[in-house]
Amino acid sequence: MTALLEVNGLKKHFPIHGGFLGQETAKVYAVDGVSFAIARGETLSLVGESGCGKSTVGRAILRLFSITEGEVYLDGERIDNLSAGRLRSMRQRMQVVFQDPFSSLNPRMRVRDILAEPLVNFGLVKGRRDLNEKVADLMDKVHLPRDAVGRFPHEFSGGQRQRIGIARALAPGADLIICDEAVSALDVSVKAQIINLLVELQDTLGLSLLFISHDLATVEHLTHRVAVMYLGKIVELADRRALFAHPHHPYTRALLSAVPVPDPTAKRQRIILKGDVPSPINPPSGCKFHTRCPFVFDRCKVEEPELRPVGGDTAHTAACHLDHVPGEEDAVVPVAA
Ligand code: SF4
Repeated sequence: MTALLEVNGLKKHFPIHGGFLGQETAKVYAVDGVSFAIARGETLSLVGESGCGKSTVGRAILRLFSITEGEVYLDGERIDNLSAGRLRSMRQRMQVVFQDPFSSLNPRMRVRDILAEPLVNFGLVKGRRDLNEKVADLMDKVHLPRDAVGRFPHEFSGGQRQRIGIARALAPGADLIICDEAVSALDVSVKAQIINLLVELQDTLGLSLLFISHDLATVEHLTHRVAVMYLGKIVELADRRALFAHPHHPYTRALLSAVPVPDPTAKRQRIILKGDVPSPINPPSGCKFHTRCPFVFDRCKVEEPELRPVGGDTAHTAACHLDHVPGEEDAVVPVAA
């Protein structure tokens, strides 16, 4: 599969201004050297605790702000340095679905107008009849009744509002959809329905998805690969099955240990990490996870580990100095089909 999106060495450092003259006094190292690629029709999930930088990666790709360092390519074209004019056509190909559909949908607009807006803005309609057909088609795609286009967002349930958000993201004919905690605010059953819808849309439209979530359990049923982030860095990147069945990095193992296992006889020990995530203003030296890692040793405090292949699988990489993490065999988790 060829890469639709390529991110190389992405960094985003936010300056903090203070003092009498408002000079820069510190930096927030929100994203600190992140690289990955997403193939056409592939889902990559970016997972980590709140504040790890995963949403900043999504927003940087969308060019909601300029990046500090690195390169972003969409379909082979570099997009992190595009002019405003070129940025517009790039945005047609990349859309976002946010966590809270209520605040991301204009409460004063009817669904018809919400869906018509991107179609008109990108010049994708020829007259009123064409517009109505395209809006009706979008409603069909997200399994909402066509006659609901005259309603306002507050007249829908949370799950239905998220379907409207997805329909709006589909409207410009995007190749890549960034789902930023898109199902996190939904009830379990509604969450499953939206995930099934995303999988169905990916199958029928060949979409690529960057799925950002704090919850590994949520991504298990929809993702092809998973990248685990900690303090602005990817610490493990692998195919879904490899990551869930053979997690290598101690942080991934701690996250996975909190995922409920349907089989009560399955062997798994809950790993409780000590301490809080350190501040991204003053991240730890060496391995950024060393202040919480149960296996820390001297080298970890001074030398930052690079992502490298683990377990004899070149597509499974982890940033840890250890070749064998103690208890690795006990971390095995039953993997969904
Ligand atoms: Fe733990 Fe050291 Fe591996 Fe970091 S490099 S995850 S501190 S063992």
